Amino acid sequence: MELCDLTIHELKRLYAQKEVGPSTVLAAVVRRIKEVEAGTGAYIDLELESAFEQARTAEARLKAGKPLGELEGIPVAVTDNLCRAGKKTTCASRMLAEFVPPNTATAVRNLTAQGAIILGRTNMDEFAMGSSTEYSAVRKPKNPWDPQRTPGGACGGSAAAVAAGETIAALGTDTGGAIRLPAAFCGVTGLKPTYGLVSRYGLVALAASLDQIGPLAKDAQDCALLLNLLTGYDPLDSTSVRKERMDYTRDLEQTLSGRKIGLPREYFGAELDEAVRRVLMEAVAQLEALGAEIVELSLELTKYALPAYYIIAAAEASSNLARFDGIRYRQAAPVGEELNAYYTRARTKGFGPEVKRRIMLGTYILSAEGYKTYYQKAQQVRTLVSQEFKSAFQEVEALITPTAPTTAFKMGERLEDPLSMYSSDLYTVPASLAGLPAISVPCGFVGGLPVGLQIIGRPFAENTILNIAHQYQKRTDYHKARPPRQKEGTV
Ligand code: GLN
Repeated sequence: MELCDLTIHELKRLYAQKEVGPSTVLAAVVRRIKEVEAGTGAYIDLELESAFEQARTAEARLKAGKPLGELEGIPVAVTDNLCRAGKKTTCASRMLAEFVPPNTATAVRNLTAQGAIILGRTNMDEFAMGSSTEYSAVRKPKNPWDPQRTPGGACGGSAAAVAAGETIAALGTDTGGAIRLPAAFCGVTGLKPTYGLVSRYGLVALAASLDQIGPLAKDAQDCALLLNLLTGYDPLDSTSVRKERMDYTRDLEQTLSGRKIGLPREYFGAELDEAVRRVLMEAVAQLEALGAEIVELSLELTKYALPAYYIIAAAEASSNLARFDGIRYRQAAPVGEELNAYYTRARTKGFGPEVKRRIMLGTYILSAEGYKTYYQKAQQVRTLVSQEFKSAFQEVEALITPTAPTTAFKMGERLEDPLSMYSSDLYTVPASLAGLPAISVPCGFVGGLPVGLQIIGRPFAENTILNIAHQYQKRTDYHKARPPRQKEGTV
């Protein structure tokens, strides 16, 4: 294994023992990027010059024995919807192609304040709408395990970069599964925190009642380390919760013996691929072998979550994206025409097909005609789904489900069929609607493609799902598997 394939906790140990320095690690990551990036297309832009400069600074601090940040000298990538002052932030959209924000997302600032080296901006579906990253206006990234297939979405670039060793870890955002689905498809570990736990200040909103920022990494331990830095009350985000900070590595080593974990029947129905089901049942057996008591239960409202999610997400997206009029957030073109004609031209040119679809759907849903029939109903379903989870959590302390019904699907396969694209999120959206924390963990392979196990927890019980994930990863090696190297020209 090369340095770029290591985890944060492994590198921290090597740094502490002075076995290797940040510049050497960064050089290994950059070598890998040069080797595979033309194939994966995981990045929208790289910032290698400043990265090397930061690595040299970290190196000097290490050598001088100065106090180190928690992520001193660790390369990290960020999705292109997280603002950084003075750096382009495009959401993989033509609409924001020239946008340079004046502010920095709190989540990013929290990592760089601890010495993280930002490698660049990763590829994503335009405005994070999608499940395959094929809606990126920049390029379609590929799954490192099979270049014929998508890495999942919306944060496919972050997941592909972590899997391929093009970064040590990454940030992503998850509205309905955009961290968990690509984590599952690419064989990495991805955590969506409880709604409100991580500040979203500086994140370009997709659906503000659902959006969360979270880590994609090589294992649960790294997710815990990153979450420690990402959390904390932020007065700049009105949805940020006032909670005492906690150490998410604290409970990692707790035993699973005698702990009750729920297996909701509805997540193992006809939609679930048979081979994926077999892999998951093997994971369930492993958890039992670790001492957990598996309790079958029912979450009957699960089937209503997907339509409710897409109604709410589209409604919120249509209102959030109203601000992108072609004048603000980018250089105003000379206005030689009537204003409405200008807006129409700018928005027609600036947005891709999925974004337009959601704006139109969302606008209709919020119209007088659609509001009662769709929006209010979806909100009622949302409340009921949350209540159902709540009662399940009186019996069990976590739930395990598949992350997705299938393994990574082929490029192009779902692009023309929005419903089949949306159906990829069948198992991730319920936890999003309820604002619950959920993690996707690699749990095996089908035909050489990774399968993800989703662990959903009670609100703010990230420590519990990280504990279960970590104990599972101590017993299994799936998270240590790395994809075959796709060389330039082979895809
Ligand atoms: N695929 C879902 C959607 O398109 C979720 C994407 C996300 O979480 N950003 O809305």
